[in-house]
Amino acid sequence: MAAQFSGEVITPVDAGYDEARSVFNGMIDRKPERIMRCRSAEDVAAAITGARADGLVVSVYGGGHGVTGSAVVDGGVCVDLRGLDHVEVDPEARRARVGGGATWGAVDAATQEHGLAVTGGRVSTTGVGGLALGSGSGWLERTYGFTCDSLVSAEVVTAAGDVVTASLESHPDLFWALRGGGGNFGVVTEFTFALHPVGPVVLGGMLLYPGFQAKEVLRNWRDFMLTAPREVGSGVALITAPPADFVPEPARGMPAVGVVLLYVGDVAEGERVLAPLTSFGPPAANLVGPMPYVAVQQLLDAPNPKGMHNYWSGDFLSEFPDAAIDAFVDNVQPPVSPLTQMIVVAGGGAIEDVADGDMAFGNRAAPFNMHYLSMWPPDPAQDQANIDKTRQIAAALKPWTTGQVYLNFIGDEGLTRVESAYGPEKYDRLRKIKRVWDPDNVFRHNQNIPPSD
Ligand SMILES: Cc1cc2nc3c(=O)[nH]c(=O)nc-3n(C[C@H](O)[C@H](O)[C@H](O)COP(=O)(O)OP(=O)(O)OC[C@H]3O[C@@H](n4cnc5c(N)ncnc54)[C@H](O)[C@@H]3O)c2cc1C
Repeated sequence: MAAQFSGEVITPVDAGYDEARSVFNGMIDRKPERIMRCRSAEDVAAAITGARADGLVVSVYGGGHGVTGSAVVDGGVCVDLRGLDHVEVDPEARRARVGGGATWGAVDAATQEHGLAVTGGRVSTTGVGGLALGSGSGWLERTYGFTCDSLVSAEVVTAAGDVVTASLESHPDLFWALRGGGGNFGVVTEFTFALHPVGPVVLGGMLLYPGFQAKEVLRNWRDFMLTAPREVGSGVALITAPPADFVPEPARGMPAVGVVLLYVGDVAEGERVLAPLTSFGPPAANLVGPMPYVAVQQLLDAPNPKGMHNYWSGDFLSEFPDAAIDAFVDNVQPPVSPLTQMIVVAGGGAIEDVADGDMAFGNRAAPFNMHYLSMWPPDPAQDQANIDKTRQIAAALKPWTTGQVYLNFIGDEGLTRVESAYGPEKYDRLRKIKRVWDPDNVFRHNQNIPPSD
């Protein structure tokens, strides 16, 4: 194995070990036996083959943002992709080739040089790998679909250590599974995405309201988003107003509502289209205006620092009637932690352009996607109250859920919840594909789909 591996091996005796094993969620403190920092698909193959020969569990580190901390495994081998971070843009072909360990910040920066983009995560430090394989929700999804809808092909290192290309023409079953099936089917060392015209200057930003207006703001937003043109991307977060200059002094540290907006198209036209939202209230702070698309993509970076304690869950909603809005607000406020963000994202638009059976990801008809994101300072004494609160909020919204979940927003909630990301038919197909590509379940330290019997 050593002869083939050209990357860096980091072990517990090395100075960089603790930094290398750290992930976004500060609750995770796992100690791999070795961290294999790969530079090529061949390195990935060597790392996997070596781990299997030694009987060690494999984990895959893309951007380390998975809330379950699946990127690192106690006593196992962490296949670290952070060195595979290239982004190559072909503006004529409108394609980007992206390394399996790149971050969305790097993709946005490189593609925006050409006024192009692909739907990416809402925090720029998030990894492309986990987000894209879990399907990929972002502000562009109502305009251009989920990230997986723009995936053209993937270079994959299989559990057997082979390097294959998956696309509609090459291993189409594997390609079907990669678009939503998570990290179960192999390690993607390079993604090729189709790119779309965006900006580089767009109308975007955030409206901020005091928390006591949450119900009326949500009702107005819901009504608008149910028929909004596909150029509008938006979500609402129940938060605590930060101690920032743009927040009026008395509102700081108080419950607040943030409405994030993006209009993909002409700025003046966007101002007209978004007027029912921007003029509502009026907001305590209106930060919506022309700005670089990359700035919209970094709006939520500051409220999402690495190392805090995190507990998440999520559900797709089939509807968001007044009673659901009331249940949401009444259960969220007051928050346990000022870092917590309880988020609802609007569906519709281009998300529904793709036929449900085309890929593993489904749930395209759900009009709203809830992300219960609890975050608090790294103090174990605060863990239980925050976890309990998250579960309480999720339970309160249960009557309006579709019964299916968005994989990227849930924590470690068991096999049944993973199955519910797909529904029984797709889950069955995924298990069969898993049996072909990973019969020994080498890639099991993740939101696992076990191979069929
Ligand atoms: C602050 C924050 C904001 C987020 N915002 C969004 C959002 O807007 N939209 C959204 O959809 N999700 C969002 N997420 C969730 C995110 O998509 C998932 O946590 C995702 O798993 C992160 O990918 P990663 O590569 O950074 O994570 P990692 O923890 O490195 O990876 C998670 C798992 O994905 C698999 N994996 C990662 N890379 C590869 C690869 N190249 N090949 C094979 N398997 C791989 C592995 O199984 C790995 O264990 C957010 C998460 C955070 C922390």
